Amino acid sequence: MAANDRCLFCRIVSGDIPAKKVHEDDDVVAFQDINPQAPTHVLIIPRRHIPSLNDLTEADAATVGLTLVRVSEIARNLHLESDGYRVVVNNGEAAGQTVFHIHFHLIGGRNFGWPPG
Ligand code: AMP
Ligand code: ZN
Repeated sequence: MAANDRCLFCRIVSGDIPAKKVHEDDDVVAFQDINPQAPTHVLIIPRRHIPSLNDLTEADAATVGLTLVRVSEIARNLHLESDGYRVVVNNGEAAGQTVFHIHFHLIGGRNFGWPPG
């Protein structure tokens, strides 16, 4: 799927819209969430536009797998791994997805309740 000019996160990937990027490589971009829900709240996304978990096929396995590896590396770089952290993917409107470019929320720096709201 081609980069979508109307997709907020594609526009952050291209640099069209500014963001506080914490990581960037050939396949993955990570940046600070504009409305953080915890002391650390980073969004990790593949550069390639995939709208949601609903759209994944086997062809996306390497992309999504690498994105999750980056989540782990960024958590380690931010020293979150010893206390623990949460990784969230909201899928669809009922789950709270508002941006339809697949993304992992990496949130940490506080305790989290279960079940999530
Ligand atoms: P979701 O609700 O799971 O789709 O997550 C979308 C996330 O994107 C929310 O946590 C928003 O706060 C965040 N967000 C929206 N606009 C921006 C932006 N311009 N820069 C950084 N994060 C954003
Ligand atoms: Zn996109």
